[in-house]
Amino acid sequence: MAKDDYYELLGVGKGASDDELKKAYRKKAVQYHPDKNPGNKEAEEMFKKVSHAYEVLKDPEKRAAYDRYGPAAFEGGGGPGGMPRGAGGMGGGFHDPFDIFREVFGQQGGGIFDEMFGGGGGRDSGRDGSDLRYDLEITLEEAARGAEKEISFRKHVSCERCDGTGAEPGSKRITCPTCRGAGQIRRSGGIITFTQPCPACGGVGTKVEKACTACRGDGRVVRTTKLNVRIPPGVDTGSRLRSTGNGEAGVAGGHPGDLYIVLSVKEHELFERQDDNLFCEIPIKFTLATLGGTIEVPTLFGKATLKIPAGTQSGTTFRLREKGMPSLRGGHQGDQLVRVQVEVPHSLTSEQRRLLEEFARVSGDANEPTSKSFFEKAKKFF
Ligand SMILES: [Zn+2]
Ligand SMILES: [Zn+2]
Repeated sequence: MAKDDYYELLGVGKGASDDELKKAYRKKAVQYHPDKNPGNKEAEEMFKKVSHAYEVLKDPEKRAAYDRYGPAAFEGGGGPGGMPRGAGGMGGGFHDPFDIFREVFGQQGGGIFDEMFGGGGGRDSGRDGSDLRYDLEITLEEAARGAEKEISFRKHVSCERCDGTGAEPGSKRITCPTCRGAGQIRRSGGIITFTQPCPACGGVGTKVEKACTACRGDGRVVRTTKLNVRIPPGVDTGSRLRSTGNGEAGVAGGHPGDLYIVLSVKEHELFERQDDNLFCEIPIKFTLATLGGTIEVPTLFGKATLKIPAGTQSGTTFRLREKGMPSLRGGHQGDQLVRVQVEVPHSLTSEQRRLLEEFARVSGDANEPTSKSFFEKAKKFF
């Protein structure tokens, strides 16, 4: 891959401000966007290159590294003379260029759609809305039992006033006066003449006579939207839920995008999750461990009774079947694993002391199996 100069790709000088970079990128992105150049591999390649260049230069740290090391720092594995990976805070790969395209244009009012479709407000084929991502944090209980959550977020919705057409009610669609319907205009740059998409109609060739006053011809407006999300039992951090058609509205009859809800599960005070199993540690009295008995154990599904056999050692793990996390696909349910920690009293009353001393006296040298084997092995050191 040729080492392109990122500033040249964007058509800006080395001292360009953030604003100039963004403007320059916007211009190039519109020019090369695949939707405007269907099937044109070169345009797609350029679109990726300018997106990549912008992604590097918009980040002050990456830009500084680029200024020092050049494009080699951002391409491939950084061969000889390249920059060590991870240096300069650049670890990790780059996003899909379409993502940053959305970042720059997708979320804000108007954005690229103003430029691509201008006052024209729509075209026959329409343009699909972007997908959106919503990060949602839930508790472990919610992950175990499933939940219903109301989320609220801002997105482009179809403009109510013009019904998404971008045309002021009663206004007609006319041939674009700037390009006279061609969708392109000719520019002369010195000795060469080139064509570019008509900025007035965004290359469509027609525009509405009067743009809708509510959406300024975009056909969409930004609104806060509420949505109920059903979270199925068994989800984990990183689970993605897709809500079809709940992304951004399309333009001029285009399909709406999808909404992706990306889940993260909060850490729990008692339970640690490992796949479908839950782990917890429970302290028990040394008398209970010695004599045996039952204890009540918290689970995500209410209390459970756990039998502690006489002579239970500290660190023993018990399994409560099917008290773990349900499987997302249904059917199987994980277990809860309870590790008991035998607690030795920190202080004794005089009566407790007397009884324990009595216990020690009657126990004498009676060897428990574990200490017996230890002392046998230790003998040779004495
Ligand atoms: Zn409108
Ligand atoms: Zn035009």
